[in-house]
Amino acid sequence: MLNEEMVGLGKVRSEIREIFEYGNKRKQEIGAENVFDFSIGNPSVPAPVSVNEAIRDIVDNTDSVMLHGYTSAQGDFSVRKTIAENINSKFNTEVNADSIYMTVGAAASLTITLKAIMNPGEECIVFTPFFPEYGVFIKSSGANLKVVKGLDKTFQIDIDAFEKAISEKTKAVIINSPNNPSGVVYTEETIIKLCDIMRTKEKEFGHEIYLISDEPYRELVYDDTFVPYLINYYDNTFVCYSYSKALSLPGERIGYIVVSNKMKNERDAYAAVCGAGRVLGYVCAPSLFQRVVARCVNDTADISIYKKNRDVLFNGLTELGFECVYPDGAFYLFVKALEEDAHAFCEKAKEQELLLVPADSFGTPGYVRVSYCVQTETIEKSLAAFKKLAESYK
Ligand code: PLP
Repeated sequence: MLNEEMVGLGKVRSEIREIFEYGNKRKQEIGAENVFDFSIGNPSVPAPVSVNEAIRDIVDNTDSVMLHGYTSAQGDFSVRKTIAENINSKFNTEVNADSIYMTVGAAASLTITLKAIMNPGEECIVFTPFFPEYGVFIKSSGANLKVVKGLDKTFQIDIDAFEKAISEKTKAVIINSPNNPSGVVYTEETIIKLCDIMRTKEKEFGHEIYLISDEPYRELVYDDTFVPYLINYYDNTFVCYSYSKALSLPGERIGYIVVSNKMKNERDAYAAVCGAGRVLGYVCAPSLFQRVVARCVNDTADISIYKKNRDVLFNGLTELGFECVYPDGAFYLFVKALEEDAHAFCEKAKEQELLLVPADSFGTPGYVRVSYCVQTETIEKSLAAFKKLAESYK
């Protein structure tokens, strides 16, 4: 007898993947240039040149047996040291190599961290809109998901709702800023209030409440928007980072976890991360790419292209009368559907060859996500299709 829950999870493709697959089929039928595929968050900007240069140089100049061999379970020491020093110089922190655990991207960073923290019956709070996989990750750690609705229109955290929702069972809180799917960056004021409440509740309940910062989009911010580094705001913080979007390397599966050096029982917390990595089989992240990212710690894919896409799409859609959340980061535009049922709206959008994602699974019915990590030309051409879509509701 198989684990029926896993069979179920394996059989049901995520809604985003369904739309993406539909798009691939449609592109074969009518030509890729005639399909406006805004479904998936696959970076459209190439990795910086420094990535390929680093790969060549490392492959040519490193002993091959060593390069392709295992590193330490938690990652190569000199890689972790380079990353720690880089974090400290950017954010004025004091993390060290032994606070860092190399992973295969943010998904692994999150599942390891949750496994390290959560016990059965405990709760992990997330704020809408949220990355749907959190539900699966939290469940697999044995804990329960608790959803707190974000503020209407701004999609910042609703601090009052959070204060009401946090309970004795709360062990962790996940935040994701810049946010998928809203593109919103939580303000410093919001972060300070959130952390104040968490500290007060830790005292009241007599146990730690951990903050998990899911940061695959940290580098994708526009117009000098400030993204607070959470280790500087809250001691019991885990940072779950990924190079998937920052360096346009989602297929290479590389990221890391930072355990704040200020965390209570920090050595035990790091041991729990190592233990969880061991249990889940996430040891020794890809050796070549550990070394590549260490060479590219100061590089980022060319985000000016995403900024341009954001401007063209946001301005174009608001001019057409769509209600959009202004995105300061990531590469998603969050748009209010023109009818209550976002699924029905997305089906109607398909008639114009527009592939949008209904945001029900992000906890925000009535909205759709438009991924603008596409060619700028696709966005420009799509505006006529959006216009027809808007007109079909008049
Ligand atoms: N968290 C969020 C908010 C994401 O959007 C994604 C991927 O899109 C992930 C985590 C997983 O990232 P990775 O591909 O690095 O595992």
